[in-house]
Amino acid sequence: MSAEGEKLRGALLNSVSHDLRTPLVTVIGAVSSLAEADGALEAADRRELTMTALDEARRLDRYVQNLLDMTRLGHGALAPKREAVDLREILGVVRNDLKRVLAGHRLLVETPRDLPPLHADPVLIGQAIANIVENAAKYAPAGTSIAIKARPDGDMAEIAITDEGPGIPEAERERVFDLFHRVAEGDSRPAGTGLGLSIVKGLVEAHGGTVAARAGPDGRGTAIVIRLPFAPSSSEEAE
Ligand code: ADP
Repeated sequence: MSAEGEKLRGALLNSVSHDLRTPLVTVIGAVSSLAEADGALEAADRRELTMTALDEARRLDRYVQNLLDMTRLGHGALAPKREAVDLREILGVVRNDLKRVLAGHRLLVETPRDLPPLHADPVLIGQAIANIVENAAKYAPAGTSIAIKARPDGDMAEIAITDEGPGIPEAERERVFDLFHRVAEGDSRPAGTGLGLSIVKGLVEAHGGTVAARAGPDGRGTAIVIRLPFAPSSSEEAE
């Protein structure tokens, strides 16, 4: 195996052992407490344990989905099912899926009412945007805002997801999209797999789009900017 292959294999094993096992151990812990208490728990405690198990199970589900996507993208086997879809619909689903992840932040969405529909697979693009929003919630301090702003730019929609967190150093802004690449910052940084953004890139590029990392507004925080094609207008389709 090449040195690069070895590195990826090591990173994957590391990621599986940590990112898969940690939530699983939490789920097992919470569910066994529920089972052992056998009805003797206060309603509030029961609810807390149930929500913990549910949150962690959902995190695990998103992680496994990302791993599957990565494998399929690697084989060119992830064909987007593209349709004309309203970005606001996709964002509604993302907001709902990430309700608990976003509990500590304000999510502001600004999309012009007359933004033309995207030519996109709503599930895959929803997942790409969810990965970015999840990062924003993870790296930016609680109490800050996360914004999703869209605007038309020629025949593409430009969607910017910005946060008020530490930002990504300029020298790292391309590499964060590499598989398993994480910005080195010592032990205090939040846990992660380094999978999220590489999958965003794969998903967006499979739609003929682009993604880039920039500094946020006023040079603070992070802006992840996606460009995705609009659906052909119905007159073009009729041709
Ligand atoms: P991870 O699971 O590590 O979050 P990603 O591929 O999603 O993996 O992101 C790669 C790296 O990019 C992260 O480890 C982090 O260093 C950096 N990063 C991504 N999003 C943000 C953000 N919103 N703010 C600051 N750093 C970020």
